Amino acid sequence: MAKKQVEKEITVEDKLKTLYRLQEKMSEIDKIKILRGELPLEVDDLEDEVEGLNTRIGKYEADMKEAEGAAADQRQKIQNCNLKITKYKEQLDNVRNNREFDHLSKEIEFETLEVELAEKKIKEFTFEAKNLAEQVEKNKELLSERTLDLNQKKEELDSIVSETKQQEEQIREDVKTIEAEIEPRLLQAFKRIRKSTRNGLAVVCIERGACGGCFNKIPPQKQMDIKMGKKIIVCEYCGRVMIDPELVGLEEK
Ligand SMILES: [Zn+2]
Repeated sequence: MAKKQVEKEITVEDKLKTLYRLQEKMSEIDKIKILRGELPLEVDDLEDEVEGLNTRIGKYEADMKEAEGAAADQRQKIQNCNLKITKYKEQLDNVRNNREFDHLSKEIEFETLEVELAEKKIKEFTFEAKNLAEQVEKNKELLSERTLDLNQKKEELDSIVSETKQQEEQIREDVKTIEAEIEPRLLQAFKRIRKSTRNGLAVVCIERGACGGCFNKIPPQKQMDIKMGKKIIVCEYCGRVMIDPELVGLEEK
């Protein structure tokens, strides 16, 4: 019962005043955000880019190692082939018949071809490794540039944030207190209107018979209603809540 009585005492005028106070606080937060500008987005983008470059470099380095390993395998293979060739050639000096001679000759020929093939592969793998090394180098340069950029922007942002952090926290506390005073439906409407506007103004004062948000003329009857402060009236053009400046202790501009 007691609660109902209190609710009854909240007039539309009070509601409008509270909405206006909330608007003022939200505008203060907007100002702080404007001060930070594009920095938070730029920091995010740079962080993504740095992460992407690190991944790419890691992949190139792994591929490079693989190519180098493959080249080393081929070199090992050549060594083995050459050992065999040397052995076959020694045996060739002591052949006992044509069949043995043909057999050894064929083996030598085969191993020689294997060496040639391995040499070709070494060339390919070495070329690949060299290309990858260049890519790694290029991307590392880019990475160091971007990291420098990122650190600079981060520092800039941190300094702005730390300057305004306490201020913002205080405003957010105030906002919570004010929001608790507003009935949920009205608060939701306020938030919705705010979202739909580019300048974040959901509540505006009327100025010379026009909406202070979109500057469209307000019909005289509506102007009167606004002055009376008995109803919550929104602009038919932009949807903002319009209030009489005198209601919130302001002179009409
Ligand atoms: Zn308007």
